[in-house]
Amino acid sequence: NSHPLYRRRTILEASQPSVSLMLMYQRVPNLIGGNFVESQSFESINVINPATQQVVSQVPLTTNEEFKAAVSAAKQAFPSWHNTPITTRQRIMFKLQELIQRDMDKLAMNITTEQGKTLKDAQGDVFRGLEVVEHACGMATLQMGAFVSNVSNGIDTYSLREPLGVCAGICPFNFPAMIPLWMFPVAVTCGNTFILKPSEKDPGASMMLAELAMEAGLPSGVLNIVHGTNDIVNAICDDDSIRAISFVGSNTAGMHIYARGSAKGKRVQSNMGAKNHGIVMPDANLDATLNALAAAGFGAAGQRCMALSAVIFVGGSKSWEDKLVERAKALQVNAGTDPEADLGPVISKQAKERICRLIQSGVESGARLLLDGRNIVVPGYEQGNFIGPTILTDVKADMECYKEEIFGPVLVCMQADSLEEAINIINGNRYGNGASIFTTSGVAARKFQNEIEAGQVGINVPIPVPLPFFSFTGSKASFAGDLNFYGKAGVQFYTQIKTVTQQWKEFPSGSGVSLAMPTSQ
Ligand code: NAD
Repeated sequence: NSHPLYRRRTILEASQPSVSLMLMYQRVPNLIGGNFVESQSFESINVINPATQQVVSQVPLTTNEEFKAAVSAAKQAFPSWHNTPITTRQRIMFKLQELIQRDMDKLAMNITTEQGKTLKDAQGDVFRGLEVVEHACGMATLQMGAFVSNVSNGIDTYSLREPLGVCAGICPFNFPAMIPLWMFPVAVTCGNTFILKPSEKDPGASMMLAELAMEAGLPSGVLNIVHGTNDIVNAICDDDSIRAISFVGSNTAGMHIYARGSAKGKRVQSNMGAKNHGIVMPDANLDATLNALAAAGFGAAGQRCMALSAVIFVGGSKSWEDKLVERAKALQVNAGTDPEADLGPVISKQAKERICRLIQSGVESGARLLLDGRNIVVPGYEQGNFIGPTILTDVKADMECYKEEIFGPVLVCMQADSLEEAINIINGNRYGNGASIFTTSGVAARKFQNEIEAGQVGINVPIPVPLPFFSFTGSKASFAGDLNFYGKAGVQFYTQIKTVTQQWKEFPSGSGVSLAMPTSQ
């Protein structure tokens, strides 16, 4: 990682305390009050390239004093940022949009290096975040209040959407650019200041985006970045100056943050895990459906919260499984930098072990492995955390491989006799991020759309992630909170309403005091 912000630092490897083994790693700085500063913490975590196992950089476990300094910087920056004209705030987003496009390739390369996804997919990661920046360019309209004239004689009432103050965002590893961009552009353009806690596994894209935001003209202290893991997250939940938390990640962390943050009176929006199903009706277009299943099941090595990870074949479409296996076999597994790669490695050795264990548990509980990607070796990247596309069939709803989110390139296949039965399977699952149907029947599609309990529905579309003029609307165990990310709901999340009632009229002289509850006249 050649990012100029990273200062080289000599670090003594704890396991090898010999001076001859002192290694040079680049330590990722925090961003506090407009300065990229190195943490004084002695503890750090290695950021590891999942294809090569090389250490890319080190993430510090930020100290409590440094965290407090970041909050204080955000607090100090708030009054003048809040009073900065909305057009000026929007203009910074226009500039940020341009700068992200300028640096798209650099950002994508950083994502591929730290996260592992293919370069093309990494570009998509940046692009889907860029669209949120574009949306934030229209904030004046999005943040408009309402006005009702003459609610009573000479009295008008109007509402203003005002920023909350200091907000915070806690990010997962799987979309190192898109998810930070779901958060801070909306928050700051509404007039808030922000503390971002990137994933400790791939913080590089957040750092580059922050640098671009500063270059675009975001004043010091408006966006701050602190690194770390559980302790810093708990500090964010507990800090009285932070008014709202945006979280994206697993259910374990998300529910903890939701409970701990709300107990402190904060707003929390928590986007969590998923098990997204695709129903394949026998009348679906065969080629388009199989292509969609392979792409949405194995793209990004299955590490998307909207990955399509469970397929329910209805009736005769079960016989399509063999063709799905052929499609999956044809996919190229390689380092994300290889131009031919369809999917790269999974994020860590631990993730690979967990995924392999879930596949094995499926086999042991009676599922059949149609394709086993566990023993794949990628020449030149023998140490990489690769798993090839894997397909389990005859999966039942009580199996662990079905109940758990696998978050790897694994498709679990099930069978149903009718659409009704397939919908019941999906509605019985605890998650509700997304569900899709593949069919040429409008009647089936409409029934599915009406009856399915999932927040994002695809009809002949495998990954129906809404564009930023809508919101990301996961439901059930996939979301906690009530205002979703981005779109109108995102603006509502980062603002509070002030309602003003004003009276301007000539007051007649001699009117008396009335203690009755005011009513409109
Ligand atoms: P994760 O929960 O392990 O980590 C997310 C963040 O929480 C990180 O910044 C991490 O430092 C912090 N964290 C982790 N455990 C914590 C704990 N016990 N206490 C406090 N903080 C903690 O998630 P991940 O592995 O980085 O991301 C994958 C998960 O994210 C998957 O479940 C995926 O479905 C989900 N995800 C959901 C969406 C969505 O929009 N619904 C989008 C992307 C990813």
